[in-house]
Amino acid sequence: MRKDQIKQMIDSALDGKGITRRQALELEFFSREELDYLFEGTNRLRDRFKGDDVKICSIVNAKAGKCEEDCGFCAQSSQFKTDSPEYGLLDVEKIVEAAKEAEAFGSNEFSIVTSGTALNRREELDQVIEAIKRIKEETNLETCCSLGLMNLDDLRELKAAGLDRCHHNLETAASHFEKIVTTHNYEDEVQAVKNAKEAGLQVCVGGIFGMGETFAQRVELAIDIQDLETQSFPVNFLKPLEGTALENMGLMERYEALRTIAMLRLVLPTIDLFVCGGREEVFTNHQEQIFAAGANGILGGNYLTTKGQDPKRDIDMIERLGLNPIYQSI
Ligand code: SF4
Repeated sequence: MRKDQIKQMIDSALDGKGITRRQALELEFFSREELDYLFEGTNRLRDRFKGDDVKICSIVNAKAGKCEEDCGFCAQSSQFKTDSPEYGLLDVEKIVEAAKEAEAFGSNEFSIVTSGTALNRREELDQVIEAIKRIKEETNLETCCSLGLMNLDDLRELKAAGLDRCHHNLETAASHFEKIVTTHNYEDEVQAVKNAKEAGLQVCVGGIFGMGETFAQRVELAIDIQDLETQSFPVNFLKPLEGTALENMGLMERYEALRTIAMLRLVLPTIDLFVCGGREEVFTNHQEQIFAAGANGILGGNYLTTKGQDPKRDIDMIERLGLNPIYQSI
């Protein structure tokens, strides 16, 4: 048992800076018993930096399907035949209505998510700007958007309209990216994140694990995101969807997924770590383990193209652990 090594890692992360790449790479070889011991430490880290609060995010898909990109995991790409819904951008009234419903449900943040490379027409941008202005005027919600590869000028306009935060995943490590996406490149993803930061927005940046990448590539993504100095990290585990390029990929094994969460908490000790897609499938009846591994948030309700579990089940699980559910959106 590598108790000393584990203690050293926890001590390094407790200073808030996180463990080194070399230390993170060693986690790949920890046995289950060693991981269980490690989780006592990552649970302490979560508690030290995040306390008892568990953030629950929710998303609203404001525009679905018909995307020209070919991200291998995504049911919304027009290059794959899937039964995912397709519709154009919802009108402002519908978006504002959805925001009010989210506020009534207890959310303190509302997120507008759209499919596609980016908002592709001036009218679409104007529509989202109008929706954000109205949400700011008519509710007390914080606002978040996930709109794809947006340029700096458009993001500045969104910020001026009242947008608080931008969500944009890097999807996977730079060295694995072209195996997953060929219609744009990793640098485009990074630039979109930099644009959001430059526009003065808070940023939420993560990826999807279990797409055939190595553990070293998971560490590579974590270190890249550490360099970007972002506020939150959505952790998705691939749920292979019929018709997509990755439909035959298996689900990640539960302890592998926990190892990944623990690595992220150790590399990024102070970040908000949300477990999003794949949570129910990968962790089944052991979902509470994600908090010991280091997560301090979940994506609740439904996902972009698939259904999530009953929100009451999530709240019961969080409260049973003596933790405190807090609503927001990403
Ligand atoms: S992840 Fe986004 S950009 Fe990629 S195919 Fe899906 S909707 Fe399009």
